[in-house]
Amino acid sequence: MSATLGIKHGATSPVLVAGSDTECRVCHSVSADGSRLVTGNGEHPGPGEDPSSAWYDLMNNYAETPMTAANDGRFNWGALSPDGKLLLNNGAMNKNGVKLQGSAAEDNGPLLAQLFTVATGATYPSTGIPSGLVVGSPVFSPDLPPWKRRSIQALKMGRVVVVHFLFDAWFWRDANPNLPGWSTRSGRISFWDPHPAGKGQPVLLGWITGAAAQELSDLGEEAGRDRALSWIEEPFPAAGARKRVQWSNLRDWIRDPYALGSYSYTCPGGALERAALATPLEGLHFAGEATAQAPHYQTVHGAYLSGRRAAREILGALGREVASSPRSFSRLPRRLFA
Ligand SMILES: Cc1cc2nc3c(=O)[nH]c(=O)nc-3n(C[C@H](O)[C@H](O)[C@H](O)COP(=O)(O)OP(=O)(O)OC[C@H]3O[C@@H](n4cnc5c(N)ncnc54)[C@H](O)[C@@H]3O)c2cc1C
Repeated sequence: MSATLGIKHGATSPVLVAGSDTECRVCHSVSADGSRLVTGNGEHPGPGEDPSSAWYDLMNNYAETPMTAANDGRFNWGALSPDGKLLLNNGAMNKNGVKLQGSAAEDNGPLLAQLFTVATGATYPSTGIPSGLVVGSPVFSPDLPPWKRRSIQALKMGRVVVVHFLFDAWFWRDANPNLPGWSTRSGRISFWDPHPAGKGQPVLLGWITGAAAQELSDLGEEAGRDRALSWIEEPFPAAGARKRVQWSNLRDWIRDPYALGSYSYTCPGGALERAALATPLEGLHFAGEATAQAPHYQTVHGAYLSGRRAAREILGALGREVASSPRSFSRLPRRLFA
């Protein structure tokens, strides 16, 4: 009839794992660690007939253990946990309400999702499965290994809000014509004059970071601009800055849905986590400024270099010729911005 075959890494031909010339054992799931397999154990069940199930110990000569706790096919096409110890049952019907081959759906309707212990077939007590959930051919997402999760958690997203003010005069140059800008709150609040004397417009650009940026973000656009203006007034109380505003703009990178912040940073001791984040994982490759090597992380050219690096890794994994390294960026300044 039908069987499930297995092929070991490096082998040139498969072996029989479950089934025989007279049995149908096809509806199967395998745990991510390769230790266990669960199959349906029915001979083409017709209407009203249900297949039983069995699990196979793939680490022990494919030893078969019937799952007699339920002979209604509820274990077939289930989701096996990565270690093969638990199973979330498959209970769906097709769109016409007909039980899918080998599924756990009862003749009178779909079967609710439940967790089971594979070794015994007993229900596994669990919380968090939504009531009324019915799942068709479920699977578990593979877990990331602890070192990869640690690297993701170690990298934080910075907070930046950028404000621009156009005034009717360069009042901040009155006392010092060459004033390029100033900073307060340990550099969290910086205002720059981007134009050299005799050129451009009377503009101040505010680069607001960390807690001060969060303050503006929480206030929202209008009140945030107002607060930023009050920070300009602080060092020039007699200049009447508020009345001089011709145009203003606030760009909140913390709330930007496509960026969710400015660029990555690590807490003390986390410098090596960027390399861990960049390390490929079973065919999954990682790029982006957060994965760039020092001193290029946090920058556009760091993101670019990381994309080149990931592309080289993928080509290498495919056995394709790897292009030469990109031109070095080492002569670029550490930052193109503050
Ligand atoms: C205000 C500001 C000024 C800056 N100035 C400079 C500068 O002068 N020089 C410099 O070098 N760097 C600067 N940077 C930093 C630079 O912008 C970033 O380091 C760089 O853009 C990061 O590139 P990236 O490709 O890693 O990430 P991103 O550019 O953030 O790209 C990630 C992309 O993924 C998309 N995405 C996210 N989630 C999903 C999802 N679930 N599905 C599909 N797509 C998704 C996002 O929409 C985004 O397009 C500045 C940053 C800010 C905020």
